[in-house]
Amino acid sequence: MRSCPTLAAYGRLYCALPRRFVSLSFTSLRRHNSAPFLNFSLFTAFRSPFSRMEQFQTGTGSTGNKAMVENLKRFGVISSKKVSEVMEALDRGLFVPVGSSAYADTPLPIGYNATISAPHMHATCLLLLEDKLQPGMRALDVGSGTGYLTGCFALMVGAEGRVVGVDHIPELVDMSIKNVEKSVAGPLLQKGSLSLHVGDGRKGWKEFAPYDAIHVGAAASEVPQALLDQLKPGGRMVIPVGTYFQELKVIDKCEDGSIKARTETSVRYVPLTSRDEQTGGF
Ligand code: SAH
Repeated sequence: MRSCPTLAAYGRLYCALPRRFVSLSFTSLRRHNSAPFLNFSLFTAFRSPFSRMEQFQTGTGSTGNKAMVENLKRFGVISSKKVSEVMEALDRGLFVPVGSSAYADTPLPIGYNATISAPHMHATCLLLLEDKLQPGMRALDVGSGTGYLTGCFALMVGAEGRVVGVDHIPELVDMSIKNVEKSVAGPLLQKGSLSLHVGDGRKGWKEFAPYDAIHVGAAASEVPQALLDQLKPGGRMVIPVGTYFQELKVIDKCEDGSIKARTETSVRYVPLTSRDEQTGGF
């Protein structure tokens, strides 16, 4: 298994903080009527490298996006040329609601009790999956939300690959398609090597299985068997597991079909759940 010095460095940084604050730095569920950006204010109180990154953000559009990627490189989050190129090419500003801080290193609400993950989490997942996102490979993004990470996957595997995004909120899927269309990943959507679908991601997406890479953008109480079944031998899944306390798991399916799992870091994601549970029946 490939080691990741960047993430090891993060682990050390966060070990010094109470777990409650560790988790708050990542994607968090924000219910209607709850205090907005509680995670942001508590977290910045520690003056961590990420909070400093927020102050560094400059410009808008491609300038702001470039500065965001530069900061992620400067703080050692991005250690790969390919990941850097892809995140620079795909403007995060096209994927977040108008008026939000697109290039700050923070999760942002996107409606329906969902959030777009913080840029450092997107970068982390891209790095963990990079070997399985080579040109021509297949990837599944469960809980595709805004379509940002799905778009990054599509740029990584290229026109010869196949990337599928699945989210169970139809309005988010519609929005993600519009977002991707505006971006450099638009032609891949048009040509069919990238597609975004409405569905229960816990069942995976059989049509294009098995996948070299599976990313799950919402926390599962346990790893869904359907996703393990749809992972190719030699493939890798990155999935947050847990309820309140969650861990980002890296699951490798060996060539003989056996499974190896390890924990990358502590995280806080929205739950992988039913549509009714997520939206409160609205
Ligand atoms: N990775 C995305 C979104 C993360 S938020 C981004 O960064 O933009 C998690 C997403 O998982 C939400 O969009 C939510 O609607 C979706 N989700 C939660 N449970 C799901 C399920 N069972 N099936 C499909 N999508 C689900």
